[in-house]
Amino acid sequence: MTESSTAPVLLWFRRDLRLADHPALTAAVATGRPIVPVYLLDGDDPGGRPLGGAARWWLHESLAALGHALEARGSALILRRGPPGEALVALARETGADTVYWSRTVGVDEAALAARLEDQGVAARRFGGCLLFDPDAVRTQQGRPFQVFTPFWNRVLALDPPPRPEPAPSHIPAPYDWPAGDALEDWALQPTQPDWAGGLRATWAPGEEAANAVLDGFLDGPIDCYAEARDALGVDGTSRLSPYLRFGEVGPRTLWHAVRDRPNDPSAEVFLRELGWREFCHHLLHEHPAMAETPLKESFAAFPWRDDPAGLEAWQTGRTGYPVVDAAMRKLWRTGWMHNRARMIVGSFLVKDLRIDWREGERWFWDTLVDACPANNPCSWQWIAGCGADAAPYFRIFNPVLQGEKFDTTGRYVRRWVPELARLPDRVLHKPWSASAPILREAGVQFGETYPGRIVDHGEARDAALKALATITDRV
Ligand code: FAD
Repeated sequence: MTESSTAPVLLWFRRDLRLADHPALTAAVATGRPIVPVYLLDGDDPGGRPLGGAARWWLHESLAALGHALEARGSALILRRGPPGEALVALARETGADTVYWSRTVGVDEAALAARLEDQGVAARRFGGCLLFDPDAVRTQQGRPFQVFTPFWNRVLALDPPPRPEPAPSHIPAPYDWPAGDALEDWALQPTQPDWAGGLRATWAPGEEAANAVLDGFLDGPIDCYAEARDALGVDGTSRLSPYLRFGEVGPRTLWHAVRDRPNDPSAEVFLRELGWREFCHHLLHEHPAMAETPLKESFAAFPWRDDPAGLEAWQTGRTGYPVVDAAMRKLWRTGWMHNRARMIVGSFLVKDLRIDWREGERWFWDTLVDACPANNPCSWQWIAGCGADAAPYFRIFNPVLQGEKFDTTGRYVRRWVPELARLPDRVLHKPWSASAPILREAGVQFGETYPGRIVDHGEARDAALKALATITDRV
């Protein structure tokens, strides 16, 4: 198909809600043709999965910020609904556009979509930018996708680096007539009755400008100690860039080059490796689009998960009786975010101590995380459950007391999020059931009244989990 010289170009925004480091936008501007930026609500995640509540809150803010940034460059953001195949063709017909530009992503069948558009006379042009590398470019010597992280990452490091990010265009040519679009408020992405988003608003500022400020702040200090501080629960030792990456308000190539430009910085290498996990999860999603539902290790399809609605609710609401688990789950509910170490602790507690299906945890995270990611979330849950690619073995079971003592040494995390335990001394803070009656009395802790008793005994739960594992494998 040839592109006529004056017809507008549709620029379809997806998980790339930014103007800098955006190859599809740069290429669209380079055509010199009018550009119609569009965002389509829902249906663009694997399986057409709708966004969860916290992510919808974030999306509203992010689209508002993107709309303002486009307006400042003489453009606008058109909001539409509907399956991409139909909505993009309809918009092309209305505007006279003959081409759609977009940033490639994974987990959805883009080749089929492109073919469908082309059948309707609309050319599809796809660009990189959501990932460091195209999944088809990172292969084993046998030409197969990697299943193990370390060789994957070594291969990535041996490739030519991804291109340097382009700056945002200063002007984006507008069409003569703007097509109609929805009003953002009409999408009702933000909660009203009840408005549970107060904690999110107090914690986050979505959008590209804020993403750059968070990145600058991280590069200005915390990155120096990242290798040592990234596992500590009570401090801000990580970048907290995950929701910005999830919605594409900052691109991974920007991070790659910002970090690689710091010579001989071991912490920077550790940080880059974490970005490598993001890349690995996305490449796995490319191979396994049903990753949120189907265990990658087939034997786990027969795992005897427990049906335990009360246990699930205690976990979700931060009332398990294990302080570090409860602190993490309450922080998640309030702020829409959880530290990686805490995600591993609460994940292990759900699937191993409670033996509740990892998909329940994945779904709760999907609904409550502002960074709920179609690749990182199911991939990490499968990793925790032991059924994923390169997963933590199921028999490695986190001890929530030891994890708390090791990664919340001062008790700051638990005291902040489980204030009813704040007056307990450090030595019993992570195992309040071991405190003597006078200590509990002095700290004002009454089990079943001010704070729940343990819903399971970790030692017994561990044994039961190993027995359950033995039913599907002979490796215990
Ligand atoms: P940093 O340590 O500053 O890392 C920088 C970036 O690297 C992150 O923003 C993220 O994009 C990526 N990254 C870091 N660690 C990982 C990891 N283990 N796996 C994949 N990418 C990583 N991350 C999400 O972005 N969305 C999710 O929905 C999500 N669900 C998770 C569920 C479970 C059970 C677990 C154990 C982990 C999950 N993670 C998820 C990965 C990780 O916990 C978060 O990316 C990280 O905590 C975000 O904080 P940060 O931005 O400060 O990370």
